[in-house]
Amino acid sequence: MSELSIQGLCKQFGQQVVIDQLDLHIPSGSLLALLGPSGSGKTTLLRMLCGFERCDAGSISIGGKRVSSAGIHLPPEQRRIGYVPQEGALFPHLSVADNIVFGLPRSLRKQRHRVAELLDMVGLPAHFADRAPQQLSGGQQQRVALARALAPEPAVVLLDEPFSALDTGLRNDTRQAVLQALKAVGATAVLVTHDQSEALSSGEQVAVLWQGRLLQQDSPANLYCRPRTPELAGFLGESILLPGIAGTLTVECELGMLAQPEENAHGAVEVLIRPEQIRISPPSRQQPQARITGMEYFGHDATLHLELLDGRHAIKARTTGWHDYQPGQTVSVSVDGPVTVFKR
Ligand code: ADP
Ligand code: MG
Repeated sequence: MSELSIQGLCKQFGQQVVIDQLDLHIPSGSLLALLGPSGSGKTTLLRMLCGFERCDAGSISIGGKRVSSAGIHLPPEQRRIGYVPQEGALFPHLSVADNIVFGLPRSLRKQRHRVAELLDMVGLPAHFADRAPQQLSGGQQQRVALARALAPEPAVVLLDEPFSALDTGLRNDTRQAVLQALKAVGATAVLVTHDQSEALSSGEQVAVLWQGRLLQQDSPANLYCRPRTPELAGFLGESILLPGIAGTLTVECELGMLAQPEENAHGAVEVLIRPEQIRISPPSRQQPQARITGMEYFGHDATLHLELLDGRHAIKARTTGWHDYQPGQTVSVSVDGPVTVFKR
């Protein structure tokens, strides 16, 4: 497959700026998860990549070839993009096989070119070929939609929130099958999602889109542990922010002297700690103490709400669901692992 390169891309609808000076590079054969809240411009970006929308400024190249820029607008059918749209992906009046071969030349359509192979690639049995889309579950329909997008051997595959209508169990299985199929064909792919954990678990790289702007593109671990701003930290997961004083590879705050792997600030900082880094133990004088003010139970884990006795900052701790702690109790708290700091 081919690399995808976006430079200085802009798009406005009337007075509203929807894509704002966007730069993005996706190497050949890699999967980028594009994460952003609803309305941030994700679908608009995919539609511009496909050629359904023109760009106001900037450029898009696929495999080194310009497909969009000032004065250039290659029509969608010449871009070699496989697109799985957000809704209504399959044609209800066509069989699974006819859906899959829909984008192929007539002669290949007639012979149901590679239908069994593509069904196998997305983890579905060959006999599904003659079924109607309505005879499949939502997850199976999404797999067929991917098979259809892969059939013409596209240069790039774009998937717009392909799992958002599925319930949790089906969603995970379908995601695994889809990611495996993309890997098997060595796809250059963009997977759009508004779900943080989906983005962090799917992409080799994750790009965060916010009001049409790219906030950060990074590996999932870097993005979660070292987001560029406190606001981005909060968007990616629950965060605790405490005032601190940073030194060389350490930072001192109400939770003690903590390790920070990068020296990106000295002096007054904000310290980012994730709730799963907070360890709870019976009260001891050697460690900071906190009072439990509340608890949320989620089954697989629980969140304890705590108020630090020195300083009175409220923090949260993620724990297993089967602990014996109760609201009102005093406990000791410590921090596991390195933290990140932001200049104040
Ligand atoms: P997302 O997919 O991230 O939810 P969209 O790209 O669908 O976001 O939309 C981004 C913004 O652009 C929204 O405010 C939306 O209302 C607006 N928008 C999208 N398409 C059009 C259009 N064809 N005409 C006018 N406004 C549009
Ligand atoms: Mg959308």
